[in-house]
Amino acid sequence: MNRLLDERDIPTIARAVVDEIKERGAAMQALDQRAKERDVEFVALRRTLWERLEQTQQQAEVIRQRDVRIAALERLVNELRCGDLVPFQDDDLPPERADAFRAHLATCTTCQAGLQDLVQLDARLSTLARPR
Ligand SMILES: [Zn+2]
Repeated sequence: MNRLLDERDIPTIARAVVDEIKERGAAMQALDQRAKERDVEFVALRRTLWERLEQTQQQAEVIRQRDVRIAALERLVNELRCGDLVPFQDDDLPPERADAFRAHLATCTTCQAGLQDLVQLDARLSTLARPR
């Protein structure tokens, strides 16, 4: 059963509607404010992330440069070891250096070929008749 709206209730209803609108407006403002705070947090977080990423890249670059220098030094040391081929074959190296050369020989194809040549040369020389 529908009851017609009593005109005396209109101011009360209007006040309730206005209150409701005010409440919703305040709630929306609070949400806006929270969203702005989140935006600020997000921007700060993104900046921190970029800074960390940059630091990581710089560290990786430093490590890469060190690796390059170490590799160059290792190559140099390895090349210097090649110089021990002849004294090694002649048994003129101190034991520690001879061991180091043996380790080098296992990885250096130049010295492996050189040692083979020296062995063959020695064999050939030993078959030659001594000059009178
Ligand atoms: Zn070598």
